[in-house]
Amino acid sequence: MIIFGTKGYIHQLAILTFVCGFCGNPAAHTLRKRITKFTLFFVPLFPVSTKFATQCTFCGAERKASQEEADQLLAQSAAGPGLSGSGPSAPGAQGFAAGGQGQGQGYGQGPQGPRGPQGGNPYQR
Ligand SMILES: [Zn+2]
Repeated sequence: MIIFGTKGYIHQLAILTFVCGFCGNPAAHTLRKRITKFTLFFVPLFPVSTKFATQCTFCGAERKASQEEADQLLAQSAAGPGLSGSGPSAPGAQGFAAGGQGQGQGYGQGPQGPRGPQGGNPYQR
């Protein structure tokens, strides 16, 4: 007796914000990947089908997406953190400027301090 069937897996790939085609709200959407695997004796062997879908978190409407659409949406979600990463560079530049000033003062005081007593003592002796 051979027991076989299919088993579904759902992976949430990303959360994206775009205007929903159903309710028209710029709401967050979850991008999901649904993999159906062929199972033999309840052991998943190989994927039978892979489908993508986006679901609106505002109205709950689910829309099927193709592989190309899913790739584009994933690329958009990946580009998001990169754009926001350019923001913290401004505070970082301020930090570098403050550090440079501190070092400049230190170098200025350094040579002047030792030269006074140490530079004078050898000539006096
Ligand atoms: Zn919606």
